[in-house]
Amino acid sequence: MSLLKLATWARLKSPWILHVNTGACNSCDIEVLAALTPRFDVERFGILLKPSPRHADILVVTGAVTRQAAERIKRVYEQTPDPKFVIAVGACAIGGGVFQNCYGVLGGVDKIIPVDVYVPGCPPRPDAIIYGVAKLIEKVTKGG
Ligand code: SF4
Repeated sequence: MSLLKLATWARLKSPWILHVNTGACNSCDIEVLAALTPRFDVERFGILLKPSPRHADILVVTGAVTRQAAERIKRVYEQTPDPKFVIAVGACAIGGGVFQNCYGVLGGVDKIIPVDVYVPGCPPRPDAIIYGVAKLIEKVTKGG
């Protein structure tokens, strides 16, 4: 097993996430935070919220990317160690949602950084977000 494969395996056994808002209305953020509460108890899967990209494996991104946020999200992505993964949460993060075509909005997150999993909804429910993380782990485990 190569070192990168070993690191990927280890990280997906306990995926640490960083939540990034690139211009969301805050409803998606509330759902992300709800997903992290004891009600859903995602810590039993090893999922932990981290305050720094340097400690994160998965960036959970909400909101359409505004012109102001574009450089920042790129920098956060570069600061996240490999192997790293991105989940776009909500219609805005997927393609701009209700904010698409606004003068200050560039579009979805994949206009700026690569995205591995898309979780649709406006906003998506906490269980859909947790399912997105599970799908990402399944995809990476299968090498897809
Ligand atoms: S997808 Fe809906 S809830 Fe989420 S940031 Fe956009 S408008 Fe708000």
